[in-house]
Amino acid sequence: MVESRYEMVSPEVALETVLKHTPVLGTETVLLPEARGRVLAAALIAATDMPPFPASSVDGYAVIAGDPATTRRMLAEVTAGDARKVTVVPGTAVRTMTGAPVAPGADAVVMVEFVEERAGQIALTRSVRPGENVQRAGQDVRNGQLVLPAGTVLAAPEIGLLAAMGRKGAVVFRQPRVAVLSTGDELVEPWEEAGPAKIRDSNRYAVMAAVEVAGAIALTLGMVKDVRSEQQELIRAGLEVADVLITSGGVSMGVKDLVKGILEEMGTVHFGRVSMKPGKPFTFATVAGKIAFGLPGFPVSSLVTFELFVRPSLLKMQGCSRVTRPRVEAVLDDDVAPAPDRSEFQRAVVRWDGGELHASITGLQASGRLLSMVGANALLMFAPGQKQFAGERVSAILTGPIE
Ligand code: AMP
Ligand code: MG
Repeated sequence: MVESRYEMVSPEVALETVLKHTPVLGTETVLLPEARGRVLAAALIAATDMPPFPASSVDGYAVIAGDPATTRRMLAEVTAGDARKVTVVPGTAVRTMTGAPVAPGADAVVMVEFVEERAGQIALTRSVRPGENVQRAGQDVRNGQLVLPAGTVLAAPEIGLLAAMGRKGAVVFRQPRVAVLSTGDELVEPWEEAGPAKIRDSNRYAVMAAVEVAGAIALTLGMVKDVRSEQQELIRAGLEVADVLITSGGVSMGVKDLVKGILEEMGTVHFGRVSMKPGKPFTFATVAGKIAFGLPGFPVSSLVTFELFVRPSLLKMQGCSRVTRPRVEAVLDDDVAPAPDRSEFQRAVVRWDGGELHASITGLQASGRLLSMVGANALLMFAPGQKQFAGERVSAILTGPIE
């Protein structure tokens, strides 16, 4: 039996090694309409109170809550955006619309529903508490407060806060540019006729999609035959234009598996085997100051190793404060006999059912069967050789939302 020269590392050590060698990229400024999904590079510190002035949260009448008067004289009407200052004193009120400043002197706003107005006088039909319906200045955000730490992924509320704090853009980390190359004599493009012994290159398209979902920019290097000089040339070209190189195929023990050797010649291979199923030949290297991932050719192996190792690396490059997925415990729906010698990651659907999470394996777990990933929202982790049975609890990495 031919033994691989590469030491087998555990999935935990593999991830640790990948992250250790992954740099954080530089920063750039983007306008708010382009900021969604980007990662904040400088903390957002509030430069004003929010709201900046005491504002009414309803349409009503600004009054003094403790005022014993049975009727109050209407002094004025203030609508949102109106900066007029009319002071409320006992026996008076100011009609105040939602978002308008609460008149000085007043400490509450009574909703229109609880007020009767006649001939410039109002009467309350209900008692009123001090502070009622008044949004205090600085109630939501205080001047000088840390609003968003660096490393925050910008989604709708974060972008809203940037705008509220007077920013028209944000300083964010650069998105990694990721060059993707498929290797294999057997490959043809999806639109080409797959003749005898040929298969369509699905990995490049799947991996480029995964790259984009991870917030990075995917570049295609196309397909290359299992010819050393051609692979070398494309790997070099890819590393010139991109921050990260991803290859597919050519990392196993076959006579035409050339990628590991090329990476080793050009740089440093940190590891060339991981004790896991699928994805054992997954390879990680540093070449010319850039990082390179050699994904196994089997479609599921390539996407599972991408999920476990490449995605966290791309997130780290973008400065994300959290790079790994959440883990949950779920009750197995199936009996599972994992690989005897390696950690196994099976694809599953995790769902909420009867007050707990359940995990259902997505059929045949062959490393070529992409359908085992369709609809899956979790990878279940099984220790080597440890049989598990329906009803037992398993650890699940959540890769998508629970429906
Ligand atoms: P390899 O890792 O190069 O030995 O490839 C293992 C198997 O994965 C091949 O026999 C193909 O069936 C499949 N494969 C390799 N590359 C691709 C690809 N780009 N797209 C889809 N399947 C692939
Ligand atoms: Mg191959």
